[in-house]
Amino acid sequence: MTTSIHFELPALGYAYDALEPAYSAELLELHYAVHHRACVDGANRALDTLAAMRAIGDFNRINQVEKDLAFHLSGHVLHSIFWRNLEPNDGTPPGGRLEAAIRSSFGSVESLRHQFSAAAIALQGAGWVTLCWETTLGALLVQQVRDNQDNSGTATLPLLVLDMWEHAYYLQYSHRKELWFLHFWDMINWADVHRRFDNAECADLALDQAPMQHVHSVVTPFRRDRL
Ligand code: MN
Repeated sequence: MTTSIHFELPALGYAYDALEPAYSAELLELHYAVHHRACVDGANRALDTLAAMRAIGDFNRINQVEKDLAFHLSGHVLHSIFWRNLEPNDGTPPGGRLEAAIRSSFGSVESLRHQFSAAAIALQGAGWVTLCWETTLGALLVQQVRDNQDNSGTATLPLLVLDMWEHAYYLQYSHRKELWFLHFWDMINWADVHRRFDNAECADLALDQAPMQHVHSVVTPFRRDRL
């Protein structure tokens, strides 16, 4: 039993050697074509399993399937954002309203960089570090995500993500996490981060509205192409 709802591996958007020398073509191809694809396949497998379980009305294994879905779906989303966060030979620092929000939340871009770097280097096991917009607070946070899906706030939207799984850097940087972070930071496409910030700021969870009030408000349509 399968479902008609499936995730797809999005186009990388640039050649495998586009980020060299900071990120080798061999590492980028392995990371995208093997590791990211495994997340897409895993998420689709979980959806198919859930469809099969619904068909026979047997949900005995639902705890394991829900965990698999969260792990693979989150991995797919984070990798998709990661590829678009990167740009060869960029060097443009964050500007505009994003820079103002960074200053408001962290004091300065340099202060954000220090915190982000510390979170990345100290991360235990496999995971990600994200700069995200906390929608209920209206502020930016740095979070350590364990594996692909744990240890992050429910209402946070990732804007800038760093893959700290060993598969993301070990082939080129071995144990030198600091060096991986430094090269990552120099490749950030801040225009992409700013676009995500503009979209995230529009998120309204309607936590402070009375029941039913929000039903009549205008809701921005979901845009799957924004991933
Ligand atoms: Mn990865």
